This record gives sequence, C-alpha cells and structure tokens, in this order.
Amino acid sequence: MPEKWDVVVAGGGTAGLSAARSASAEGGKVLLLEMSAQIGSTGQLGNVISSDFKILGKRPVVRLFREIELHAPHRELSVNYDRAVVVDQRRLEEHLAAAVAEHGGEIWLNAPVTGLLMSDGVVRGVHIEAGGWSENIEAEVVIDATGARGEMSGLFLRHVLGGGWNRDLLAFSNEYLMANVGNEKSVDIFFDAYSAPGGHAWIYPLSKGFAAAGINGLRIHPDAALDEFLGRRKIKKLERALPIAASRGQLPLEGPLYQTHADGILAVGGAAGQIYPLTGQGLLYSLKCG
Ligand SMILES: Cc1cc2nc3c(=O)[nH]c(=O)nc-3n(C[C@H](O)[C@H](O)[C@H](O)COP(=O)(O)OP(=O)(O)OC[C@H]3O[C@@H](n4cnc5c(N)ncnc54)[C@H](O)[C@@H]3O)c2cc1C
Repeated sequence: MPEKWDVVVAGGGTAGLSAARSASAEGGKVLLLEMSAQIGSTGQLGNVISSDFKILGKRPVVRLFREIELHAPHRELSVNYDRAVVVDQRRLEEHLAAAVAEHGGEIWLNAPVTGLLMSDGVVRGVHIEAGGWSENIEAEVVIDATGARGEMSGLFLRHVLGGGWNRDLLAFSNEYLMANVGNEKSVDIFFDAYSAPGGHAWIYPLSKGFAAAGINGLRIHPDAALDEFLGRRKIKKLERALPIAASRGQLPLEGPLYQTHADGILAVGGAAGQIYPLTGQGLLYSLKCG
C-alpha cells in the first residue's frame, strides 16, 4: 500500500529545503525529492546578499563587505554599503537539511520528479523515475521547488496553469571560481552592454585569494561571454588568477509569478520566479518564501 504524504517537495535547493523545514516543523509528514546525488544548489560558487540578511543566521555568512565598485561604460563609482554579505549557499542548505531531519522529514536523493499525478484537475502527487526504477507518490500538496537553472526546471506549476518560461527574459549565466585573486576587499559590478546585454558581470570576494567572477545576460552564450569579458577587461585583481570551477545557470528576469499555486500544488523560489530582476539575487527570497 503506497504511503501518502502531507507535503512532497520537488527539489532540494534553498527553496525546497526551506519549505520542507517549515512544513515538517509544523508537524506535516514531509518528503523532499532531489534529482541529483546531493542536496543543494549544485555548483553554486558564491552568493551575495545585499539586503536584510539576519534571517540567514551567522553560520552561512562568509564575509561582510562595505565597498561596491560599480563599473558603468563611462563612469566608475564606489558605493559604501553596510548591509551586504557573501554567503556560502551550500552551508546554508546543509543546515536547512539538518533541520528537516530534526523535525522528522525525509529526503530522497537521486529521485527526479518526472511528472505530476492528477485527477479532476487537482494535483494528487508526483511520479519519480530513475535508472529503470519508477514510483508514484501521493501527497496532499506538492511543492515545485525545482528552480530555474535548467530549461526543464520550474515547469510543474507553470504547466498546470498553462504557461512556461518567458524565454526572452531568461538570462543565461556562467560563473567561475577564481584562485589567486589579488585584492578581494570589494565587490565589483560591471554594466557592459557588449558582453552582458540586459544583465551584468560581477566579481565577489570569497575566502582569502578566491573570488567568484560571473556574468549574466539576455541571448548570450554565457561561457563565451564570460571568457570574452575577462579577456577584454583585463581586471587587475584577476591578473594572476585562474578559473578552477564553473557553474552555469539561468536566471528568470521576468519577476515573480503572479499566481504561485493551483489545486494541490505550490511553487517557490526560482521555480516561482522569485528573483530580483535588477540584480539576479534570489537566495533570500527562496529562503523566506520557502
Ligand atoms: C550563476 C548564478 C549566480 C547567482 N548569484 C546569486 C547571488 O549572488 N545572490 C543571490 O541571492 N542569488 C543568486 N543567484 C540566484 C540563486 O542561486 C537562486 O535564486 C536560488 O538558488 C534559487 O533556489 P531554488 O531552491 O529555488 O533553486 P535551485 O537552487 O536551482 O535548486 C533547485 C533544486 O531542484 C533540483 N531539481 C530540479 N529539477 C528537479 C526534478 N525534476 N526533480 C527533483 N529535483 C529537481 C535541482 O537539482 C536543485 O537541487 C544566482 C544564480 C545563478 C544561476
């Protein structure tokens, strides 16, 4: 006899883990399904949060910074900022997962959700399928927390509502972890219509000697755009630095979904477009909305 869950969460990134933590803390019988072999926003290198970050707690905060250097085409500007931090998203997610466990929730890894169980227009659960194994899982509520990173992400609620991604407003992004970085005191933001149309490029300081350098833009090839940008700008602090890891993704710049639920299903985080279009920041929204 198959089990029935109160809440099944599809996706074990920040939004899904936060939702699973809340639902299990409220006494729900919660199952989180993550398609990859580990929880967390796979490959995320560094995240900057420039708003009220107290909700994060101290543990995932890597460093505070006070200077943002803005590089516009005809203007360089230093901005003093007292509310910006670099966050280790993986550490944040590990703590969220521990809280899910503490409240009696379950997490299954290598469990990709491939479809919804529906009857009479109501979502009744999910179908999972991997390596010749498949299973139907019934739930009172399904939460789509599959993010926005891949073309197939964030589509469960959208399909129930009869929509999809607005491809014209999906920014393509690539980010390198750079080793042997010079001055890593400031955060640098570059507005560069050539390499990053509709988006921007950035250098975020991480631990000493390391930084994340990334780019996002509309209708770009993110790998080529980042290489071209770094090659052309010849940024002093990166003069002797090398990329040692890369992380590619998509950022929806369309703004949040107006409707984040249908019968039996909710969406949260990247899946619900909960990303601030101007900066591409979504971590805090995923945590709060989850
Ligand atoms: C390059 C890049 C840089 C960024 N920089 C910042 C930043 O500096 N600051 C900031 O605040 N935000 C930043 N963001 C945005 C931030 O990463 C996202 O807003 C946030 O990670 C969204 O969390 P999420 O849990 O909704 O989605 P994700 O982190 O994408 O997690 C989704 C999870 O769902 C899983 N999944 C997907 N499909 C399925 C399926 N069918 N079945 C089961 N599991 C599935 C995935 O494996 C993944 O673990 C950045 C994003 C990118 C791409």
